[in-house]
Amino acid sequence: MEALARTVTVRLPDGSTKVVPRGSTVRQIAESIGPRLAHDALAAKLDGKLVDLSRPVEEDAALEILTPRSPEAVDIYRHSTAHLTANAVKRLFPDVQIGIGPAIENGYYYDFNPKRPFTQEDLDAIEAEMRRIVAENNPIERLEMDREEAIRIFEEQNDTLKVEIIRGIPDARVSCYRQKDFIDLCRGPHVPSTGRLGVFKLTHTAGAYWKGDERNPMLQRIYGAAFLTSKELEAHLKRLEEARARDHRRLGKELELFVFHPWAPASPFFLPKGAALYNGLIEMLRSEYRRRGYEEVVTPQIFDVELFKASGHLANYREHMFFTQAEEREFGVKPMNCPGHFLMYQSRLWSYRDLPVRFADFGRLHRYELSGVTAGLTRVRSFVTDDGHIFAPLEKVESEILAFLEFLDLVYGAFGFDAVEISLGLRPEKRMGNDALWDRGEAALAAALQKARRPHVVTPGDGAFYGPKIDFRVKDAIGRAWQLGTIQCDFSQPENFDLTYVGEDGGRHRPVVLHRAILGSLERFLGILIEHTAGSFPFWIAPVQAAVLPVSDRFASAARAAAGRLSEAGIRVETDARNEKLGAKIRKAELEKIPAMLVIGEKEASAGTAAVRLRHGGDAGTMAIDDLVAAARAAVAARQRELFAEVKNR
Ligand SMILES: [Zn+2]
Ligand SMILES: [Zn+2]
Repeated sequence: MEALARTVTVRLPDGSTKVVPRGSTVRQIAESIGPRLAHDALAAKLDGKLVDLSRPVEEDAALEILTPRSPEAVDIYRHSTAHLTANAVKRLFPDVQIGIGPAIENGYYYDFNPKRPFTQEDLDAIEAEMRRIVAENNPIERLEMDREEAIRIFEEQNDTLKVEIIRGIPDARVSCYRQKDFIDLCRGPHVPSTGRLGVFKLTHTAGAYWKGDERNPMLQRIYGAAFLTSKELEAHLKRLEEARARDHRRLGKELELFVFHPWAPASPFFLPKGAALYNGLIEMLRSEYRRRGYEEVVTPQIFDVELFKASGHLANYREHMFFTQAEEREFGVKPMNCPGHFLMYQSRLWSYRDLPVRFADFGRLHRYELSGVTAGLTRVRSFVTDDGHIFAPLEKVESEILAFLEFLDLVYGAFGFDAVEISLGLRPEKRMGNDALWDRGEAALAAALQKARRPHVVTPGDGAFYGPKIDFRVKDAIGRAWQLGTIQCDFSQPENFDLTYVGEDGGRHRPVVLHRAILGSLERFLGILIEHTAGSFPFWIAPVQAAVLPVSDRFASAARAAAGRLSEAGIRVETDARNEKLGAKIRKAELEKIPAMLVIGEKEASAGTAAVRLRHGGDAGTMAIDDLVAAARAAVAARQRELFAEVKNR
C-alpha cells in the first residue's frame, strides 16, 4: 500500500495555496493564516461543503473560512442559537421532548412537546438560562456514531421525536452535536462554542404540528430572533414592535372596525365605526368626482356569461370568478366593472364633443381568493374599488393623465401618504394593437409625466397586454411600500365591444379606454391606512371625531347638548356619560384614538364652552361650543389630519 503524503494542499478563496500537515483541523489552518481570522472564524466551507472548525482536512481541498462577514454565517449562527434554546429548555424542563430547530428568516425556531404550553414566564426563564450557557462558553463538539447508538442515547433521555427522526435516516452513521450537558442529532455545522452566541431574543410561541402534518400531535414552537450584530437585532425588534402595534387585524378588533365570520370566508363585515371610515372614503371621492367631471353610475352585479365571453374574462379570468345559474342560463358575478361600463357606453351614440366620458362606479366586486388563513383586509373576496373608466380620443389621453395625477396627489395627501413612487410600464412582448397605437399611447403617458415633472422609473415590458400603464406606490409611516393607484390605456376592449364616437369629420372613430383607480380596493386601502396611521385616523375621516366628556353626572345634560350641536353640524361625536372619573374617560378616548376630547365641568357648562384636549397630548384650551363647531367643520372641509392645523403638541 502506498504511503499517504504527510501533507495536503488547501486552496484559499484568494487563489493562494497552503500546504499543511494531513489531518490539520480547519481551526489549525485558520490559526496558521492569522490570529484575526482564527478569532473570527465560525465555520468553514470545504470543497463547497459547510463544515465545523474541528473538521480535519484529510486531502487536498478548496477551503473558505467563514466569519460573521460571510453570507453563510448567519444561518449557522441562527441554527446554533436554536440548539442553545433546546439546551436551556432541557435544563429547565428535563421531561420536555425536543423536535427540530432550523434557521429561518430573521432567526430560528425550535419545536418542543411540553406537558403544558410555555408561558411568557417560561420564555423569560429559558432566555435567562440561554444567557447562562453562553457565559459558560461550552465547546460545541461533533460526534459521529452508529445509528443504533444515537437511538440508544435519545431513547435513554426519552426523546421519542428524535428517535423517530433517526429511524427515518437510511445511513448507518449519523452525527450528533454535544455542548456539555446537551446533545442533539444534527448534520451541522455549528459555531465552535456557546460563547460565540448571544445576540438573540425569544419572540413568541405558536402551535405547530409535528412534521407539519395535522394528523400528528401539536407541538409548541418557540420562535427566536437572532442576528450577528446587536444593531441588526435591535433594528429588527423595533420593526417587529412597530408592525405589531399597527397590525390592522388587531387594531380592527380593538377599534371595533370590522369582523369576519366563517360563513362568509375572506369577506369583511364592517362594524359601524369601520363603515364610517368606509363611507368617508366614498364621500370624499364622490365630492371630488363632482368637481372633476366624473359621472357616477350604478351597474348590475350579475351578468350573463356572454358578457364575460366578449370581455375575455371567461377565457382568462375564470378561476377568479363566482358563477350562478337561473332560468337555465349561466351567470357570472362581476369581478370588474369595465365590461358593464362598455355595455353602457354602447347604449347611445357619442360625438367627439361628448368626450372624454368618465364613468365612476362603487359597485361591489367578487373575486375568488383561497379562503382566509388570515382574517385581514389585504386579500378579500368581496370588495369595492374606486373604479373609473374614461373614454377618450387618443389625443386627449395626455390631458386626462395630467388631471389624474393632480387628483391622485390630492387624495394621497389627505391620508398623509407623501412619498409616491411612479412607474411607467411599456409594451410587453405579447400584446394586442398595432405598434403605431402603442407609440402614441406610450408617448402620451410619458409626456404627461414629463409635463407634471414627476420623477418615475420606466419599466419596459411591464405594460398590460392591452396598453401601457402608470402605477403608483406609496410609502407608509414605517417605510413599507404599497401599490395603490393605476391608470391603464386600453386599445383592446374598444375593439372587442366595438366602441365608437362620431368625429369632427363625421366618421366613426375608436376611443381609448383608461382604466383608473387611486385607492384600488377600499378594503385593502383601509387595511393599509389602519397600519399607516396606527389607528389615529386623520380628523376629517375619523369614525369618532370628538368625545364629549362630562366631569360628572351633573354635567351630562350640558355634554349631551354640546354633542347634539356638533352632530347637527355633521361631526361624528360620542358622549361618555358613564359614572367614571374624568381620568378614566380620557384614557378610554385616548385608547380609541379619538382626535378631540371636549371636557365639560361646572365652569364650561355655565359658559357654553368646553376644555379641548387633543389626542397625542395636545391641549387646545377652552373654546365656545359655537367656535368648536366652526373649527370642526373647517377641519373636515380642509381634510385636516388634526382638529387644528397647528397643534400645540406635547
Ligand atoms: Zn444543529
Ligand atoms: Zn377597468
